[in-house]
Parts: sequence; structure tokens; C-alpha cells
Amino acid sequence: MTARIIDGRAYAADLRRQLAAEVRNLAEQGTRPGLATVMVGDSYPAQAYERRVRRLAEELGCHYVCEALPADVPEADAVAAVGKLDADPRVSGILVLRPLPSQVSEVALYRALDPLKDIEAVHPVNAGLLALGRPRYVPSTPASVYHMLDRYLSESGQDPQDVYSRSNVVLVGRSNNVGKPAILLGLARNATVLSCDVHSFKAGLLYEHTAQADILIVAAGSPALITGEHVKEGVIAIDVGINPLPDPRTGKVRLVGDLDFDSVAKKAQAISPVPGGVGPITDVWLLKNTVSAAKLAAGVAAAQPSLDGIPRPAYDHTRI
Ligand code: NAD
Repeated sequence: MTARIIDGRAYAADLRRQLAAEVRNLAEQGTRPGLATVMVGDSYPAQAYERRVRRLAEELGCHYVCEALPADVPEADAVAAVGKLDADPRVSGILVLRPLPSQVSEVALYRALDPLKDIEAVHPVNAGLLALGRPRYVPSTPASVYHMLDRYLSESGQDPQDVYSRSNVVLVGRSNNVGKPAILLGLARNATVLSCDVHSFKAGLLYEHTAQADILIVAAGSPALITGEHVKEGVIAIDVGINPLPDPRTGKVRLVGDLDFDSVAKKAQAISPVPGGVGPITDVWLLKNTVSAAKLAAGVAAAQPSLDGIPRPAYDHTRI
């Protein structure tokens, strides 16, 4: 089997065109969406992501600000930086970049977010709404994974609802930001979902589970964790992992995913590459959520986000 390579850049470009039109419409109504990021320290992945979303926000004509804090910042100061952004009317949505240094707890920063500006749904209220199937926002990475899957299935002449309900979706990685919300999005599509994490690996069970996957979503942050021998023929394999590796030939940093691309591609019906897969869609989705937040703040009617991508009746998200 020769895998179809899912072109995340092309999907992202389509979403971006739609979003640019939406931003222009909003501008005519006097609303300018604004994105803020909070970055503590100088980790490579956080800096790379910050640069990409900054560029995208500016190109779309959105307001953008980054609160860049030193790696040794006391937690109270980081919480105060979030509070400052909560109070800034130019900021519609806030992204807390990870990783964070050990003295700054993720939970403390997430709790400090104004839930209306929490576009990654990490505040306890928004995470709860997501779990209850009434999301205020659908976090950008899992939303992008399923956007990619929904679109690939439709374009390849398959009925997504039928495929999901007959599929074992196996997730590798169970973080609050990616893996856990991806469980909910799979369940909302009526798939049979199996969630693995590092404990499955240590117990020697990971590859038994990945071999059962009709749809495999890998978000572990471990280069080439999954090879061709760990997947079944015909799998749809989505690689969320982004691992910076120094290239010994050039000395430059090269990004690789969690899949061993060549060997998995030999058996898969479809595969997403790294770079050029989930990443570019995630960048646009973050801005899409920022625009939703701006609409919410301005009282502009907006389509309700849903776990399965199917529009739902309006729900007043200005209240819980
Ligand atoms: P995280 O470190 O918070 O969580 C990693 C998860 O993977 C944990 O549940 C851990 O138990 C599991 N894991 C680690 N090693 C494993 C192993 N050997 N076997 C099975 N499970 C294992 O990371 P995260 O924020 O969820 O991100 C995961 C990866 O996805 C990272 O490479 C990150 O850079 C990338 N990422 C990509 C995007 C994108 O848009 N493409 C967005 C967010 C994160």
C-alpha cells in the first residue's frame, strides 16, 4: 500500500482564507481580534510556536502581544502577567506556551485565565464544558487533528461517520492539552477510543494497542516511537509530535515527528508528515479560536463550536 500524504499546509491555507474573510468582516463592524501569548523562558518549541502565531496574527491584521518572562520568574509574577492580559480589552484570546519552568505551575496560570479568553480550553470551567460536550472553545491541536481526518475521509470518498463508528482510534499521549481532549473528539464521532501513555509503553503494551488502530494519533514527543512494525496495513496515521533534532550534517535543527515516516507510510492508507502536517493547521486554528473569542466579547453571533464539527443550536457562552 502506498500512503496518501495528507497535506496539512494545503488544509491550513484553505482555513486561513476563510479566516481572513471573517477578520475583514469583523473589522467592518469595528471589531479587531487580539491574540496574546505568555512565554516563560526560552525553550526552542515555545519560541518557534510564538514566532509562527505572531506572524500569522499580524498577517491577518489581528492585534498581537507576547508577555515574554524570564525562566526564573516567580509564579506570582507569571500569574500577574496573565491577569494583565485578562484586563486588556485589545486581547480576545490568550495562549500559555509550554513548557513552563518547575516553579510556575500550569494549573496556577490556567486558573488565572479569564475563561472567555481561554481559547485553548485549559481553564477548569472550559475543560469542564468540553468534557460535557458543550465546548466554549475546542483546543486547537485536537481540533486540527480531527479537521484533518474529517476532510481526508470525505475527500477520499469515505463516509466519515461510518468510518469512525467502525474504527478503533488509538491515541498515544494523554496530555491535558492534546491527548485528553482528542479522546473526547473521538468519542463524539462515535469511534471506539483507546488512550495510551508512557505507562502503557513501560508496561510493554503500547505496540499491542497501536497494532489494533484503524486510526492512530500519536502525540508523545518521542522521535520515531512508532514504526511500520507497530501498525496494521491500511491504518490512517496522524503525527502530532514535533521533535527538534540537530542535524549532524548541517548543524541546523530539523523537526521530526513521533512516527518513523518511511516505514509507517509503507503500510498506511494515509499519513500526516512532520513538518507540514498537523502543525500548520493548529496555527490557524488558534487564530480561529481567537476570532471566536473576539465575537463572544463583542456579542457578535457566531457558529457554536462542537466536538464533532457538526454545528449545534446556539448556546450562550457568555455565561457558564
Ligand atoms: P506532553 O509532554 O504534555 O505529553 C506527552 C504524553 O505522551 C504524555 O501523556 C506521556 O505519558 C506520553 N508519552 C511520552 N512518551 C511515551 C511513550 N514512550 N509511549 C507512550 N506514551 C508516551 O506533550 P504534549 O503537549 O501533549 O505534546 C506531545 C507532542 O506533540 C510534542 O512533541 C509536542 O511538541 C507536539 N505538539 C504538536 C502540536 C502541533 O500542532 N503539531 C501541538 C502541541 C504539541
